[in-house]
Amino acid sequence: MESTYFLDTKMNEECGVFGVFNSQNTAELTYYGLHALQHRGQESAGIVTVDKNDFNSYKGEGLVRNIFTHTAMQKLVGTHGIGHVRYSTTGGSNIENVQPFLFRGLDETFALCHNGNIVNSNEVRRYLERIGSIMQTTSDSELLGHLLKREKGSMLTRLKQSLCYLEGAFAFLLATADALYVARDKLGLRPLSIGVLENGGYVITSETCALDAVGATFMRNVNPGEVLQIDQNGIVTDSYAKETRHKMCAMEYIYFARPDSDIEEVNVHEARKRCGMMLAEQAPAPTADIVIGVPDSGLSAAIGYAETAGLPFETGMVKNRYIGRTFIEPSQALREQGVKMKLSVVAKVVQNKSVVLIDDSIVRGTTSRNLITMLKKAGAKEVHMRIAGPEIKFPCFYGVDFSTYDELISARSTVGEIRQLIGADSLGFLNIENLAKGVKMKNNCGLCTACFSGDYPTNLYERLEDMNKDVK
Ligand code: AMP
Ligand code: SF4
Repeated sequence: MESTYFLDTKMNEECGVFGVFNSQNTAELTYYGLHALQHRGQESAGIVTVDKNDFNSYKGEGLVRNIFTHTAMQKLVGTHGIGHVRYSTTGGSNIENVQPFLFRGLDETFALCHNGNIVNSNEVRRYLERIGSIMQTTSDSELLGHLLKREKGSMLTRLKQSLCYLEGAFAFLLATADALYVARDKLGLRPLSIGVLENGGYVITSETCALDAVGATFMRNVNPGEVLQIDQNGIVTDSYAKETRHKMCAMEYIYFARPDSDIEEVNVHEARKRCGMMLAEQAPAPTADIVIGVPDSGLSAAIGYAETAGLPFETGMVKNRYIGRTFIEPSQALREQGVKMKLSVVAKVVQNKSVVLIDDSIVRGTTSRNLITMLKKAGAKEVHMRIAGPEIKFPCFYGVDFSTYDELISARSTVGEIRQLIGADSLGFLNIENLAKGVKMKNNCGLCTACFSGDYPTNLYERLEDMNKDVK
């Protein structure tokens, strides 16, 4: 199973997608859109713009602001286009995997990009290779391009037919010579929203925070299973799947999304704050003096916890915002001397205090252990760790980068054991019921909580089921 394991780690991605239709400033708007989605992926980014029949593409590794120089932007002319920011786990960061992918053909050219993960990609890949497709990348996003080439009829028809082969999480954007196509998986696992520009053009984005960044107004969310065609005549809506269930990824609320985004009309900051409130009721810390949050994703929950517990919310930790993924980490020797790059403690705030420390999640447990050591070194009397999300006990196969049991401390250890390992005076996690109450989904929209409960909303297919057996 070793090789399958590596293949899987390669293919897991957390990403952001952004598309523009009908604007004189397509590249510029896409640039600002991707910049607003940068938290969803800092490893690489790309933009494809379409100018009549000319497709212009520019991609690179690193941050949006470093990739798209003035010269690069000048080449990206077009009236519509799509863009992508990508975060891949170790092994899959080759330049050929950077999206959008461009499929140039004799009679048609199109570009596509994707956020999510296809759980039956091995099966589809095998099928396509058997019937003659030659893959350019190891990314599962490429599969849709090959499927589209094999179907017959209009692009919308072919898209609907092709999507029926794919299972898992996806938000796809596709640009042809005269239209933009949009598709969301039938469980609605990854977020996708539509906005309107002042000139009547449209933008599509993984998160609504990018709408504000480009001056667009929220129109609506793309529905689970929905397929859209956006062209000069407006929007045509259709669906590729009759049966849909809404299972929005709970980790979007807990960790990924920006607090100023609304996902399925629920504001992320407010959801986190309510989760913090629920956590204070469920796991109080009676001896605590102050509440502090781990910046940035723990802060909203910390505010909620403090409010319900009747304790002061303090800035006990500060984050250096200019650390990128490629930043040179200090050597072990410097680390031992106390060189810390990402987070530092405000010693005066925590000295001689019993502190409630709120974070959104524990994956491997390294972050919590380091933070608690830092707080104690700075003079905190007690550290009561509270996590504003449930224990992550199961891998995610829908595009989040914990894809094996090995990576998850909660899959192997009890809460008591984790407490000891991270050096906390007490430890509490929000339970799944309180998470659902805290997030407060609207319009019958449900949450995927598979990484907490093991209750996966799709089949897992042979490779994933086998891998689970082996690693467990
Ligand atoms: P760990 O040190 O592995 O326990 O990581 C926990 C920290 O990583 C928390 O502070 C989270 O904010 C953050 N985190 C949670 N989920 C993820 C994820 N899927 N990818 C990267 N970081 C994450
Ligand atoms: Fe999100 Fe967890 Fe479901 Fe993955 S398994 S989609 S991280 S809730």
